[in-house]
Amino acid sequence: MKAMVLLSGGVDSATCLAKAVRKYGSENVIALSISYGQKHKREIEASDKIAKFYGTEHIYMDLTDIFRYSGCSLLSHSEDEIPKESYDEQLKKTDGGPVSTYVPFRNGLFLSSAAAMAISKGCSVILYGAHADDAAGSAYPDCSEAFVNAMAAAVYEGSGKTLRLEAPFVKVSKAEVVREGLELGVPYELSWSCYEGGDKPCGRCGTCIDRAEAFRKNGVKDPLTEEAEKTEKTEKTEKTEKEI
Ligand SMILES: [Zn+2]
Repeated sequence: MKAMVLLSGGVDSATCLAKAVRKYGSENVIALSISYGQKHKREIEASDKIAKFYGTEHIYMDLTDIFRYSGCSLLSHSEDEIPKESYDEQLKKTDGGPVSTYVPFRNGLFLSSAAAMAISKGCSVILYGAHADDAAGSAYPDCSEAFVNAMAAAVYEGSGKTLRLEAPFVKVSKAEVVREGLELGVPYELSWSCYEGGDKPCGRCGTCIDRAEAFRKNGVKDPLTEEAEKTEKTEKTEKTEKEI
């Protein structure tokens, strides 16, 4: 049995990939990463490292053109600033969501594209890492349980009942996803969540805040920020030594 996993390079999809590899074996898992015209390449680079870590086939697809009319702040053609506040704060201003980093129907497109490719590659299941926090307050309506169920029904019917869509985290929080990922030994230091594409996560955008909270609730430091802090310390020491 073969599985396809949508791999963005973030925490949730990396955990999904780990789950799939454990269940089906790396030789039976295909990771699919999709560009949508985001402002930086960090996520795609992260997805490459994670797929390599697990030894799965990795397919890359570019759907940038579909979003050319969108003003979403994540997109490279948008001049809007990416909000530097938590999703809760953002939702207070949106009157029932979605937030400005919602890419219009992106996950619907991703899942349809994954389904088309999964059928051709002989997969019988697609795994998708949406979780309950992302759908809260309709921040990202294409992460909700209702959306997932509707897409799952469409994929199943449209594939001639040969392909299923599973979203194993749709009912749980991001902290719960991290808890499971820590048990599975997911290499979170290779992942990337921040909406900005700097050398290290900005720590201030919605997804950075969410990510930090999920690790904090598990009583551990995020290995990615820990690594960034170590590099920063080394660089500082080297600089001071040079000055001396
Ligand atoms: Zn950030």
